[in-house]
Amino acid sequence: MTTGHGTDGVERRGLMFVLSSPSGAGKTTLSRLLIERMPGLRMSVSATTRAMRPGEVDGKDYLFVDKARFEQMITGDQLLEWATVFDNRYGTPRAPVEAALSAGQDVLFDIDWQGTQQLREKARADVVSVFILPPSASDLEKRLHSRAQDSDEVIRNRMSRASHEMSHWAEYDYIVINHDVDEAFAEVQSILKAERLKRERRTGLVGFVRSLQSQLQA
Ligand code: 5GP
Repeated sequence: MTTGHGTDGVERRGLMFVLSSPSGAGKTTLSRLLIERMPGLRMSVSATTRAMRPGEVDGKDYLFVDKARFEQMITGDQLLEWATVFDNRYGTPRAPVEAALSAGQDVLFDIDWQGTQQLREKARADVVSVFILPPSASDLEKRLHSRAQDSDEVIRNRMSRASHEMSHWAEYDYIVINHDVDEAFAEVQSILKAERLKRERRTGLVGFVRSLQSQLQA
C-alpha cells in the first residue's frame, strides 16, 4: 500500500476503517457524522443488488446494480470483498478504495462481518474494525420501526438476524455501545484519531525524527 500525508504533515499509510453492526444500531448515522467531521476520510460506496429505498441516491448511498452486473464485478475481480446479506449481494468496488488509499486518504466501510473478515485476511495491518452494539434489543426494534423504510416482514427478518450478526462481535478491534449518538460518535472519532497516530502506519517518522535530530545537532 502506498503512502500519503498525515494530518500533521508526517507521511503515513492510509487505513481502512470498518464499522459493522446489526441493522438499526445507528451505524449509518455514525458513518455520516464521521465523513462530515473527519477530514481525510472517504466513504467506500458499495455495490448492491438490493432495491433502492426511498430517499437513497444511486452512486452515493450505493451503486445499485442488477445480478448480472454484480456477477461481472466478481468475475472481473473488481470487488475487494463481497457477501450475501438478506438475500441480496453487497460488495466493495476495489478501484476507488485503492485510489483513495494511494492518495493518503483513509477509507470508511459500512460492511458486515463477512466483508470485514475478507478485508482483514487481505490487509490485516491496515484494517481497523469497530462493532457497534445497540444498548438493548427493544432499542434496536424501535429504531428499525422508526426508519419505516422496510416492510414488517423485512423488519422481523432483520430482528431475527441481528443476534446472528452480533455473534461476530469478538472478531472486531473495538466495541462501541450506542447509548447516545453524540457519545458513540465521540468514541468512534477517538478510535480513528488514535489509530492515525500509530507508529507502524507513520512511514514518514524516520525521516521526520532524523531531520529533527540533525537540526538539534547543528
Ligand atoms: P442495508 O441493506 O441495510 O443498507 O445493508 C445491509 C447490510 O449489508 C449492512 O449490515 C451493511 O453493513 C452490509 N453491507 C453494505 N455494503 C456492504 C458491502 O459492500 N459488503 C459487505 N460485506 N456488506 C455490506
